[in-house]
Amino acid sequence: MSDFRADGAAALEWVARYLEDVGEQPVLAQVEPGEVRAALPSSPPERGEPFAAVLRDLDRVLVPGTTHWNHPRFFAYFATSGSEPGILAEFLTAALNVNTMVWHTGPAATELEELVLDWTRQLLGLPDGLHGHIEDTASTATIVALAAARELVPGGAVLTSEQANFSVEKAARLLDLEYKALPVDGEFRLRADAVAAEFERGRVTAVVPTVGTTATTSVDPVPAIADLCAEHGAWLHVDAAYAGSAAVCEEFRWALAGCERADSVVVNPHKWLFTPVDCSCLWTRRPDALLRAFSATPDYLRTTEEDVTNLKDYGPALGRRFRALKLWAVIRCYGREGLQGLIREHVRLAQLFASWIENEPGWEIVAPYPFSVACFRRDGSDEENEALLERVNATGEIYISGTRLDGRYVLRLAVGNVRTTEDDVARAWELLRESARR
Ligand code: PLP
Repeated sequence: MSDFRADGAAALEWVARYLEDVGEQPVLAQVEPGEVRAALPSSPPERGEPFAAVLRDLDRVLVPGTTHWNHPRFFAYFATSGSEPGILAEFLTAALNVNTMVWHTGPAATELEELVLDWTRQLLGLPDGLHGHIEDTASTATIVALAAARELVPGGAVLTSEQANFSVEKAARLLDLEYKALPVDGEFRLRADAVAAEFERGRVTAVVPTVGTTATTSVDPVPAIADLCAEHGAWLHVDAAYAGSAAVCEEFRWALAGCERADSVVVNPHKWLFTPVDCSCLWTRRPDALLRAFSATPDYLRTTEEDVTNLKDYGPALGRRFRALKLWAVIRCYGREGLQGLIREHVRLAQLFASWIENEPGWEIVAPYPFSVACFRRDGSDEENEALLERVNATGEIYISGTRLDGRYVLRLAVGNVRTTEDDVARAWELLRESARR
């Protein structure tokens, strides 16, 4: 290997420059399928190359072939941030290369994971006494929750709304549980009366309301659903993957009402808590059910320690990355106040954008916007709106996404990057208006 210190300094310089200049890159990769692969050697080198060659190809091929999620004008899906403390912690994590299977293969990683999940719980105002651990994604966390639910109530249905994330259907499918997507009200919230009717119809294993749905960020009526789950003995799993993070600010705590009665809650710090992908927090008040679903100890992993947490027993993976370090670094370096400041600014920017849309003839806001996402459309056909999205994204200056609501094609602008400023959002609006005029 060449000189680690010199290579490391070059890599750090590369990252610093990238973060400073990423706003000048086209946010959406401007490459054709296959182009990246064709630009790289099709077979591995016989002899080792200097690390500088990796950095060279990063600049030459991979950066132009990247859609820049860390770009200040990335407004698609849920905009996210790999913030500096998180990036540095990922580097340290790779150096330690801990595999937290059982406590003694990673005592510090295990205990830090428990601690940082408790810190995050406190930041969000969730109740004391929950067991928390980290999964890679909310998709996996929901599989874990529903597998635990199935231990307690086997063979029933999973109820959620037609606005729920696709990960809920995937989890139900994987666990061979019937999946029922129920209707929503005029503000895209799961109808509690539809949930009640399903309980009358048959056995229910779990109900999965969403706090911050993928399309509109609507908040399902968790308190009413918690009543139904308690009455009928079903598991309540709350998908707060995106909007749960807003609860670091007291004024958004309303969104997590009812979660104190949930059997499990998932929040993704890799969505809106400035932690690099991947990091998904799952809290439960029924760790016993998770253990029933996942605990198994082959001879080679038998341990003698008592009263320790073996994280392999709480989810599908045996080998586990030390993900807690980056979340801990983010929380330490921003502090509660820093996190609140970012969340508040993102909500302010999205609401400002929505107010511009509302005040412009020919444009329409199509759903309430309680957090940092606005759904809107321009007067005209679905095809015209889709073409508008294509045109603005093709500029490379902004990246927004689309979805369908009430059968109509709509556009979405999501704010969530630590570097996004009012100028960035204003530029998005300017481009949309210019492109619509054309
Ligand atoms: N839940 C909601 C509400 C989401 O919006 C998403 C993804 O956007 C998910 C779950 C799945 O998250 P992940 O990509 O971490 O599996």
